[in-house]
Amino acid sequence: MAKYAAPGRAGSVVSYRERYDHFIGGEYVPPARGDYFANPTPVTGEVFTEIARGTAEDVDRALDAAHGAARAWGRTSAAERANVLNEIADRIEDNLEALAVAETWENGKPVREALAADLPLAVDHFRYFAGVIRAQEGGISQIGEDLVAYHFPEPLGVVGQIIPWNFPLLMAAWKLAPALAAGNTAVLKPAEQTPASIHVLMSVIGDLLPPGVVNIVNGFGVEAGRPLASSRRVAKVAFTGETATGRLIMRYASENLVPVTLELGGKSPNIFFADVAARRDAFYDKALEGFTMFALNQGEVCTCPSRALIQSSIYDQFLADATERTKAVRQGNPLDTETMIGAQASTGQLEKVLAYIDIGKREGARLVCGGERAELGGELSGGYYVTPTIFEGDNKMRVFQEEIFGPVVSVARFDDFDDAVKTANDTPYGLGAGVWSRDGGTAYRAGREIQAGRVWVNNYHSYPAHAAFGGYKQSGIGRENHRVMLDHYQQTKNLLVSY
Ligand code: NAD
Repeated sequence: MAKYAAPGRAGSVVSYRERYDHFIGGEYVPPARGDYFANPTPVTGEVFTEIARGTAEDVDRALDAAHGAARAWGRTSAAERANVLNEIADRIEDNLEALAVAETWENGKPVREALAADLPLAVDHFRYFAGVIRAQEGGISQIGEDLVAYHFPEPLGVVGQIIPWNFPLLMAAWKLAPALAAGNTAVLKPAEQTPASIHVLMSVIGDLLPPGVVNIVNGFGVEAGRPLASSRRVAKVAFTGETATGRLIMRYASENLVPVTLELGGKSPNIFFADVAARRDAFYDKALEGFTMFALNQGEVCTCPSRALIQSSIYDQFLADATERTKAVRQGNPLDTETMIGAQASTGQLEKVLAYIDIGKREGARLVCGGERAELGGELSGGYYVTPTIFEGDNKMRVFQEEIFGPVVSVARFDDFDDAVKTANDTPYGLGAGVWSRDGGTAYRAGREIQAGRVWVNNYHSYPAHAAFGGYKQSGIGRENHRVMLDHYQQTKNLLVSY
C-alpha cells in the first residue's frame, strides 16, 4: 500500500504557491480589485492556498491577451499546433504524479483514479486532437467550367470556456485540446472549488504555448464566469456544469449571437436485465462492478449511474449482491493508492448530498445502506466524506429525478423490456445510460431506444477520446471528444474562384 505525502508536508511531489493570480498573456497577473479567496482541501478541510477573485476587468484583460495572440496562433500550420499538443501530452505524462496529487488534494478524489483515469485520458485527448488536426483537409469542388469552390476550415478566434470542479484537469483538457488544435485562443475559467489544479497544469505546460494562447481567469460564476459568457469578444462559449447554469450561459451568449456548447447534468439509468444473473460468473461479477460505478469519483460524475433499474425476477438477489459489493468499496484517505472513494469536493457539495439523503428518507425511499457522513477520524476528521448510499423506491421520487451528484443510487424494479426503457427515459436528462444483458439483441435495442447521448453496453464509465460524448434533452447541446468536436471550434471559409 502506497500513500502520497500531503502537499505542504515533507516528501510531497507537489508544492502549491501561497496564492494564485490569474494567468494572462503568459504571466501571473494580480486581480484588478485586489481580492482573493481561500481554497480548502476536502481531504482534511484545511486551507492550502488563496486564489485571485476575478471580475469583469480581469476577464477583459484576458480577452485582450487572447485577441492579441489569436491571429498568429490561428495562422500556424496544423502540424505546428499538433507538435505543441503532443508536447503538452508528453509534459503531462512526465508530471503525472504531481498533477494527480494536486488534483486529489484539491478535489478529494482518490489518487488512484487521477493516476489511472483522469490524467491518462487528458494525455490521450491532447494526442488525439494532435492527430485529428493533422488529418483534417479542406475541400475543392469544380462548380462550373471556370468556377471552383475552395473550402477551408478556419478557427473561430477567441473562445470562452467555463469548467466544473469534478474532473478539473480532464475538463480543462476536453476544452483546450480541440480549441487549440482548431487554431483558437482561449480564456478559461476554472471552477472556484478547483482552480489550483489548473494552475499546477499551467506551471507544467504554460511555456509550451505562445503568451496569450491560453489564459486562466479564476473566480466565481457570476463575478467571473458571467462576464466571460456575456462578452461580445468571444466567438464561442463552451460550458460544462449544471443544467440551471447552462440555461443562463445560453441566455448570456444569445445576446451576442455567440454559439454555445453545453455539457450539463444527468440522472443516468443503469439497467440490469434478468439474464445477467443466469450464471454467477465473470459477467455477473462485472455487472455488480458496473452497479457500484455510482460511487466512482464520489458520485461526482455527470454520467453517474444514479438510477439502477433491475428486472423483477432477479431483483432481490441482485440488489443483495450489489449492496454487499458496494459496502466493500474502500473509502479512506484519497492520497492512499488503495482508496476507491474519497471526499466530496466541497462543503457545499457535502451539504447538498446529505440534504438529498434526508429528502429520500422523508419521501419514503427505503435506505438500503449508507446514508450518513463518514467519520474517518484522525487528520481526515475535518474532511467531507459520505458513505456510499443505496435507496430503494419509485422513479417519481425526487431522489430518482434530481441530480444529487454524490455517491447515492436510487434503485427500482422493472417487469419487462418496455417498462425498463420507459422508466429509463422518464427523466428530463439524457446524458448517459448503462445496459447489462447477455443477449446482444436486447442490449442493442435498449441502447438504441434510450434517450441518451452515451449508452454503455456491458460496461460503464469509459471515455475514449474518439467516442463522441454529449447530452440529449436537458443534458446539453453539442458533443465533446471525437473529431466532430472540431465542428464546434471552426467555421468554414468558402472561396468561390473564377478562372
Ligand atoms: P456549476 O454550473 O455550478 O458551475 C460550473 C462552472 O460554471 C463553474 O466554473 C462556475 O463558476 C460557473 N458558473 C456558475 N454560475 C455561472 C454564471 N451565472 N455564469 C457563468 N458561469 C457560471 O456546476 P458545478 O457544480 O461546478 O458542476 C457540477 C455539474 O456539472 C453537474 O451538474 C454535472 O452533471 C455537470 N457536469 C457535466 C459534464 C458533462 O460533460 N455533461 C461533465 C462534468 C460535470
